[in-house]
Amino acid sequence: MEKELAKNLLYKPTPAHLAQDRKTVDAFCDAYRAYMDASKTERDAVRVSVEMAEKAGFKPYVPGAPLTPGQRVYRINREKSLMLAVIGSEPLSQGFRIMASHIDSPRLDLKPMPLYESSGIGYFKTHYYGGIKKYQWTAMPLALHGVVYRKDGTRIDVCIGEDENDPVLYISDLMPHIAKDQVSKTASNVIPGETLNLINGSLPFDDEEGVKLNVLSILHEKYGMEERDFMTAELSAVPAQKSREVGLDRSMVAAYGMDDKVCAYPSLRALEELDVPKHTCVVFLADKEEIGSEGVTGLRSEAYAAFLRDLCADGNACDREAFRNSLCISADVGGAYDPNFAEAYESGNSCYIGKGVAVSKYTGSRGKGGCSDASAEMMSRITRILDADGVAWQTGEYGKVDQGGAGTVAVDIAKFGIDVIDVGVPLLSMHAPSELAAKSDIYAMYQCSTAFFKD
Ligand code: MN
Ligand code: MN
Repeated sequence: MEKELAKNLLYKPTPAHLAQDRKTVDAFCDAYRAYMDASKTERDAVRVSVEMAEKAGFKPYVPGAPLTPGQRVYRINREKSLMLAVIGSEPLSQGFRIMASHIDSPRLDLKPMPLYESSGIGYFKTHYYGGIKKYQWTAMPLALHGVVYRKDGTRIDVCIGEDENDPVLYISDLMPHIAKDQVSKTASNVIPGETLNLINGSLPFDDEEGVKLNVLSILHEKYGMEERDFMTAELSAVPAQKSREVGLDRSMVAAYGMDDKVCAYPSLRALEELDVPKHTCVVFLADKEEIGSEGVTGLRSEAYAAFLRDLCADGNACDREAFRNSLCISADVGGAYDPNFAEAYESGNSCYIGKGVAVSKYTGSRGKGGCSDASAEMMSRITRILDADGVAWQTGEYGKVDQGGAGTVAVDIAKFGIDVIDVGVPLLSMHAPSELAAKSDIYAMYQCSTAFFKD
């Protein structure tokens, strides 16, 4: 065989930007960044996504009426997760095309009784949510998002720290000058969970009463809150900074909560832009993935299948048949190869930023534990859909076999007898307060969603 022909046998991933128009990608990522800045918690993401969907003609789904091709419906699940569909021209028994991603991200939740003071400093105690490196969350501006229900059941929406003129919260770290003992600890013990205490004030109420009462009186003046109301609240501290373009070439984006809104947003945009698809196309924006997808708003809840079953009932289709004929992309981020930490990766089987969406046959940890392991047939089918539309894709595992790993919602979709595969945007610094992705990969995720919905 001739050498030139033989060289064609080797697989080489194509950089995603080669098949993209830079101006289009930049405009898409500007809109993506605005979405990220307004969607720091799952409640925020649901609110912003519903606003987007309504502008695009989606209406709340009222079951019990016949469905028409092109109809656009959504269902909110307890303000924390969202399901949307565009009805296809084919009967629902032909199956759904589902993009499932999650809109919750690691953060610091306030404990039920968070207020205290020590040595003249006021604090909120926190309990972290999701897998964080605790030492990354100190010495930076943090905003407070959430809801509070007062004794009488009335609701207060809280958002402090996002406006440039707002105050922020802050977690102190020990200065290096006297950190001899601290820096000799292992990284997971450098900042113990019980020291992730948010500084919330330093002025006493008066000569007799301290900072705690002063902070409470400020909250009462602004929100009508009492201390007991913290027990009937969901308040989360998240990084207060906005997303930024990264690199002198502006080729990347850094933002909080990319995992997994960097997949949620492109799939939502692709769904909105559909007219009348062949198959009924669905987007799931799930909650609770970062803590195992349990709970009524997590993908293990029957609520998601119930949405599909309700659509089947209105389309006079057998849900079991529809599920058998459905395909799902579990759209969640990939752990991109980081040359700075090369020892944690196996370079030949990693995904790389800028090389397109990562299509993963399996995720999981150790012996593929906790993953759904898609079939060769599913790998072939999805990659042919991407190739047909010229979407840049690659494959890649999460680091070396014995280094750990990650799970996704794929297992929860597979449980319904729906074929599912993991496809997502490669990220650097995953779960850090600011995560990094290539713009070309964010746009490739949108191209991937569009191609999949056309199938
Ligand atoms: Mn994720
Ligand atoms: Mn995650």
